Amino acid sequence: MNDYIPKRPCVICGNTKKSRFYCEIDNLVYVKCECCSLTYVDQLANIKEIKKAHGGGNFKSIRRKLFGSIRKMRSLGGYKHFLNRAHKIFDFVKQRHLASDDQKTMLDIGCNKGFLLKVAIEENFNVFGVELVPEVIRPFCNTYPKFKDQIFSEKFQTVSNRFEDKYFDIITAIDVVEHFEDPLSDLKSIRRLLKDDGVFIVQTPNIECENSKKLGCNWKALKPLEHMHLFSENNFITFGKMAGFSKITTYKPFEEAAGNFVAVLYP
Ligand SMILES: [Zn+2]
Repeated sequence: MNDYIPKRPCVICGNTKKSRFYCEIDNLVYVKCECCSLTYVDQLANIKEIKKAHGGGNFKSIRRKLFGSIRKMRSLGGYKHFLNRAHKIFDFVKQRHLASDDQKTMLDIGCNKGFLLKVAIEENFNVFGVELVPEVIRPFCNTYPKFKDQIFSEKFQTVSNRFEDKYFDIITAIDVVEHFEDPLSDLKSIRRLLKDDGVFIVQTPNIECENSKKLGCNWKALKPLEHMHLFSENNFITFGKMAGFSKITTYKPFEEAAGNFVAVLYP
């Protein structure tokens, strides 16, 4: 596929000059920018297919619709595992944000089942969440009805317009930025929503991780219906600065499973 001509510019470098065919999965082409190593879906699938992929397919979706209306978090499979993971992430978040007595606001983009929000509520945070699949977050809403109006099943860009500048102390996006279709706009919005002493915490797959290098096109993070942009620690630092963040540091991932990195971004 040496003759493939990329159509979409690298969102970091701003052009297609160094973008080369990387692989094709499910009739969608990933290209890789040889300049910054960003690997991205050249032409995005239509929104219907993307939404279906986010919902985990039809079967999962039906099951959730049947049980989600009454279910509470405690009855979810993997409860302990999810809660432990959320505690680990929240401890990390707290270490990066100076504590004071007044109540803090937190937004978790792609909050999934809401475990990170649950831990934050227990720490007296006022929490907000974005989750595209309403059935996934319903047990959280059943468990914490007080917060159910602060959960949005809309695209982040739509949600962000509901809030004034500098509204949040903490914004988290765990395994989410790779899903953004227009990550520069989304990161700029996150920057706008953060208080001056706020912090934005990200975990995302690393295109330069050992598994990616070893497995190439078979690396499991290459899912073109879901993962539109795969970053590296280096290019994500560049990208964060483009979006207006002043300081960005990277860390090992929250999961032992290889392949992600964590980034902390300060306004
Ligand atoms: Zn690039």
